[in-house]
Amino acid sequence: MPNHPDELLLKQVEDILIKQRGYISRKPEENEPVIFLATGGLDSTIIQYIILKEWKVKIYPLFIKRGAKASEYEEISFDFFCEFFSKEFPGKYINPLKINVEIPPKQIKENFSKLDLIRQGYPMRNSILESLGVSYAVSLKLKNDIDIKEIYTGIISDDFSFKPNRILSLYMMTLLSGVNTGNWNLSVTSPVLDKYLDVSRFHTKVDIIKYAIKHKIPLEKTRSCTNGSEMPDGDCCQCITRQYAFIKAGIKDPLNYTKKLSENEIIKLKNSFLEIEKKNLSGESEEYLRNY
Ligand SMILES: [Zn+2]
Repeated sequence: MPNHPDELLLKQVEDILIKQRGYISRKPEENEPVIFLATGGLDSTIIQYIILKEWKVKIYPLFIKRGAKASEYEEISFDFFCEFFSKEFPGKYINPLKINVEIPPKQIKENFSKLDLIRQGYPMRNSILESLGVSYAVSLKLKNDIDIKEIYTGIISDDFSFKPNRILSLYMMTLLSGVNTGNWNLSVTSPVLDKYLDVSRFHTKVDIIKYAIKHKIPLEKTRSCTNGSEMPDGDCCQCITRQYAFIKAGIKDPLNYTKKLSENEIIKLKNSFLEIEKKNLSGESEEYLRNY
């Protein structure tokens, strides 16, 4: 028997997908076009490199300007990697598309405190981004007769994304895409999170950072920080999670940060985040985060 209600639900969703189309997730063919929700961040950048290199797919990247504080710097990173990928993988990184969609809108965003964001993030934020990916796939079919089945995100297992079960959310989006469009070939998933795909061996941020170093991906050009300053602040959730992964990988993070935290401070903050995610926050961590 499954231990967690989500495990039962996951099994049920997998069963529906098998019934509807005979598989849960499939690896794309060589040269098959896919959509990737690119953010300019560390994870989405490395994961795109992994599937370009390992699967030899063609990527139609979609960059969504969400009105976030760091949008300008995320876009600089996205632009840099558009050029980088086009040079490294000629003909495989196609027609980068940027769209403006405020997610969540300002009037909703302002109701969330910093602690709320650490606790739960913006509800349904990823689902909105993913549904835009599906919409883009359908539009490419209509306009250019390009048949895209796979819509990918850069979600990784140790991401700080507040989901009790991230793969379940993605399979639910796959289910919804089938129901909504009538096309049961569509998939919304993350290549490194999906155990049915062979690159899921790159399981954690540490794994993908090591891969990136080996393949000389210029990680100093990625943008993880969610703050609005040009230099990453060093102490937002994303900066902590990134620096923590570099510490665990035993590799020096090539970025400079405004606030230089010690390894111990980074590890302590990251552990407090993990406690929140597991919903067993101790009084001490809560107090620590209130001052953070
Ligand atoms: Zn930051």
